[in-house]
Parts: sequence; structure tokens; C-alpha cells
Amino acid sequence: MADFVLGVDLDGVCADHATAFRRVVAADRGIDEAELPDQQTWDFTEWGLDRDEFERLHRTAVNEHRMFRTMPAVPGAAEALWRLSDAGVWIRLITHRLYANWNHAVAVADTVEWLDANSIPYRDLCFLGDKPQVEADAYVDDAPHNVVSLRGTGAPVLVFSQPYNAGLDGPRAAGWAEVEGWVLDLMAAGGRPVQAPMPMPGDAASRLRH
Ligand SMILES: [Mg+2]
Repeated sequence: MADFVLGVDLDGVCADHATAFRRVVAADRGIDEAELPDQQTWDFTEWGLDRDEFERLHRTAVNEHRMFRTMPAVPGAAEALWRLSDAGVWIRLITHRLYANWNHAVAVADTVEWLDANSIPYRDLCFLGDKPQVEADAYVDDAPHNVVSLRGTGAPVLVFSQPYNAGLDGPRAAGWAEVEGWVLDLMAAGGRPVQAPMPMPGDAASRLRH
């Protein structure tokens, strides 16, 4: 039987984009990060960003702050993905980071560097300009427009909960433990074999560093 392929989004799911972008915007304005309200909307309207200003700040974030290399990981992502990978899940990372037409070299190189540094396992890494489905059995995403378009294909899509996606129907996960449970339940319900974990020394998430 073919592998169970899980399509996993990066920003807002594995990588804490909101925290990283907040640092950049605060530095650009010369203010304290705490002065920026929590992100509630997908397009950062609470920070007074229009499309042009968002583009400018995002370019600064990627090229000068090297945000894709330095951003914090979402807690539990690496550990859960390693356990799923050990259970036989094919991890297909999917990212929209090339939506801008500049400096793809930095965006791609910093992303790959970050994935290794944070011990995120994957077998495919898809950089998409637009994000239709990429032939996965199931998806985890946070962006409302991606969730809606992926669900339109009939695929199971788990919403990774963020303030800007609270209006979407479930299923949703409040964190990586819930993602892991959802995927394993989906595999079991579909009659897909779940491999027992192999005894490996040390914790799974630090494997790449040894
Ligand atoms: Mg995302």
C-alpha cells in the first residue's frame, strides 16, 4: 500500500511566523514588541499595514532579518512529525514562501537551513507560488484561503488553530499533540498500517543533530 502522505504547511503551523514578524515590525518602528496588539486578522490590519507596507516589511524580514532562518519553531512540531514519520507517514512540507518575486535564493536556503536546525523531518519540500492540492492524503494548514481551497478538492484538512482562522469549521487542532492524534485516527479509519515505533536512542527530535 502506498505511503500515507501528510501535507504540512510551514508558516503558522511549524514555524511561528507571527512572533518573528512582530519582531521585525517593532524593530522597523523603533517600538517595543509588546506595543503591537496580538494578530487577529490574516492581513495584519490591527498593525495598520496595507498591502504595500506589508510587502515592504516582509521583504525586510526575509532579506535583512533573515526571518526564515531565525524564526522560532512552533512547540512540539518536530517531535510530533518525527513520531508520525516513524509510524510510516510520508511528510510532505508545503510552503507559499515564494509568493514574492524577489530573492528566492535566500528564502529557499534559509528555509532548508531552518528545517535542519529545528530537526523537522520531511521527504518532500514543495515551494508553491499558488497552493492548490499537491496530492497528499491529508493536510494541516492555518491559512483560511488554503483550508477552503484544499477542502474544495475533497481532501481531509485539519485547521491549525490561530486567531485569524477561528471562523473556519473543524476539524481543528490547538497544537501538535492534537495533529498527531488526528493523523493516526485518520490512518486507522482508512485501514492504513501504522508502524510501531522503532527503539531509537535519544529523543527523536534531536536525531538530526547527532
Ligand atoms: Mg501557513
